[in-house]
Amino acid sequence: MNSLESIAEEIKKRDDFILLGHENFDEDCIASLFSLKWILDNLGKKSIILLDEEIDEYNFLDIVDSDYSLFDNFELNKSKEYNIIAVDSGDEDRLKQGKDLLSSFPVFNLDHHEDNTLYGDYNYVNANKAAAAMIIFELAEILNIKINNKIGECILMGIIGDTGAFRYSNTSSEVLELTAKLMKQGVDLYKINRMIYSRNSYETVLFKGLALSTIKLSENGKIAWIEAKKEFFEKAGLDKIDSQNIVNYARDIKGVEVGISFTEKNDEIKVSFRSNEYCKVNEIAAKFSGGGHPRAAGCTIKDNLNSVEKKVLKEVKKFV
Ligand code: 5GP
Ligand code: MN
Repeated sequence: MNSLESIAEEIKKRDDFILLGHENFDEDCIASLFSLKWILDNLGKKSIILLDEEIDEYNFLDIVDSDYSLFDNFELNKSKEYNIIAVDSGDEDRLKQGKDLLSSFPVFNLDHHEDNTLYGDYNYVNANKAAAAMIIFELAEILNIKINNKIGECILMGIIGDTGAFRYSNTSSEVLELTAKLMKQGVDLYKINRMIYSRNSYETVLFKGLALSTIKLSENGKIAWIEAKKEFFEKAGLDKIDSQNIVNYARDIKGVEVGISFTEKNDEIKVSFRSNEYCKVNEIAAKFSGGGHPRAAGCTIKDNLNSVEKKVLKEVKKFV
């Protein structure tokens, strides 16, 4: 593992950065990518973010088209010696198409997942940080880059996303202190909260209704699970398969320790786990080649819904 200071020194020496995040990006992933991109801009470095899908839901941030490209539209310039910076991604597979770039260029890995596989040439992983965006903030401080409003807004979005708007157990005093610092310099917490949590589309709410009607509870009341079937997305009029964090409804039932959602994709099931007090769901996810945090983890299993549900519930029952 490297220190963030030594990574900052390496970044100063280099140019032409490609920034990568994880599949099914979330607020913290987008926040880490764009705040880092804008910090590199301020350092006078060239960089581009590569994404596997469009980011319409984050259009309230000051994102411009030249900040990012979709993988499919990006061509490597053969004469350039790129440097890769991966953020918020515990292992190489999480980077999807980005994984293919790792063997060709030096890789910086900045993350806050305790089970990070240290796949970079330079690794900084700090599981005490509630959000990866907090690591980007620290990097900016080391690099002496002023956090302007646009970068600050992004970092606060990452914090809000990964702490569930200051409700999860990772909401440390450091989180609140940094939030206060950002607010003092003008970052609008209320705006970010509204943008993230109060802009559901009608179709999304329809989908949630359909998925919620499948909720089940184990006999001992400690496990609750929800199915996000493919047909629900179609019925609701959504063309993108995204579980919309429906798993939180399962976790938030009184007495439940582990909440699970099963999201049906083409030939595989995306499983999301959340826990409340003691169950380390990243250890359960790891049994199915996934991972994450102790209270929020996930994996993808190639099989049908019924079979995945049986296998996963059998495993979870050993833990609660
Ligand atoms: P979600 O359920 O929202 O997709 O993910 C919850 C947490 O688990 C996030 O921290 C995410 O990075 C991690 N996670 C989700 N799916 C996977 C996976 O397939 N592999 C790994 N290593 N982590 C995952
Ligand atoms: Mn994160």
